[in-house]
Amino acid sequence: MSQDIFTLYPCDLCGSTELIEIPCAPHYMDGRPLHVCSACGFVQAAYRRTPEALQKMWAEEIYRADDAKISDKTYTARIPAVVARQTFAIEFLAENVDIKGKSLCDIGAGEGQFLEMLRAPRFDMDVFGIEPSTENCAILDELGFANFPGTMEEYAANSDGRTFDVASLIWTLENCQSASGVLAAAHDVVKPGGHLVMATGSRILMPFKKPLQYYLGPNVDAHPFHFSANALTSLMHKAGFKVIAHNRFIDSDYMVLIGERVESGDGLPLPKDDGHDVVDFFERWHRETQTHYADW
Ligand SMILES: [Zn+2]
Repeated sequence: MSQDIFTLYPCDLCGSTELIEIPCAPHYMDGRPLHVCSACGFVQAAYRRTPEALQKMWAEEIYRADDAKISDKTYTARIPAVVARQTFAIEFLAENVDIKGKSLCDIGAGEGQFLEMLRAPRFDMDVFGIEPSTENCAILDELGFANFPGTMEEYAANSDGRTFDVASLIWTLENCQSASGVLAAAHDVVKPGGHLVMATGSRILMPFKKPLQYYLGPNVDAHPFHFSANALTSLMHKAGFKVIAHNRFIDSDYMVLIGERVESGDGLPLPKDDGHDVVDFFERWHRETQTHYADW
C-alpha cells in the first residue's frame, strides 16, 4: 500500500499538531504509526485517507458484496457478538431517555439490524438510516427503512432540514475520517433538547482484555480513532452534546455515553488524558501481549 495516499492530519479533537508516536503500535500495524496527542491525550491514526478515499475503501474492500446476500460478505453485523452489543446500547439508551414512539437517525446504519430492534413494538421508533455503502442501502431498502446513501457530513449538507429526537452512533465513530466532523454534523440533525447515543468499545486506559494483535491491525485508517472516556466526553461536549449518562465501562467491553443536545458546547468541560500516561499504557499492554499471548 503506497504511503502517498495518506495525509497527515492534526489532532481531530483539539487541533494540536504535537502528536507523539506510540512506539509499539507499528509492530501490530504493518509498520504504520499510531499517535497520541500530547496536548489532550486523544489516540488517533494521524495519517489518514481523504474522506472520499476512505468511503470508497469501506464500500469496496470491507463491505465487499456483489449482491445483497449477507452470507457472501467479508463482514456482517448479524453475528451474535454484534447483536449483543447493540442490544446493550439500546437498553442503556432506553434506561436513560424516553424513546418510545420517537424519531431516530442511525449514523452508519449498516445492515439495519439496530433499526429493526428499534422499530419493534416495544420501542416503536420512527427510524432513518445514514449509510455510505450502497450495498447496505439496498438491504435497508429491502427492510423498508428510509435511508440516505452517503456520509453524515453529506447528509447534513444536503438534508431538507429534518431533525430527529435521537441520533445514534453505534460502533461507528471510530471508523469515520473525522470524529469531530461527524459529531458536528450530528448536532445539526438532532432537535433542541434531543439526544445522542454513542457506543464504542474503548480499551484506552482501561484494563486490557485482549492481546494487542487483536486490537490493532494494518487497516489502521479504517478505524483511526481510539476513545478513552475523557476523549469521547470532550468530543461530544465540543460538538454540543452534554454527557448525561455513561455505563460502567471500566469492567465492560462496551462504553456507551448519552449526550443531550445543547445549543453550543461552549463552557462544557473538556477532560483530557496525559499523553505520556497513554503511551505508558500501550507499552504495558505490549509487554503483556508479547510475554503471554504473542503466539495466540
Ligand atoms: Zn489533541
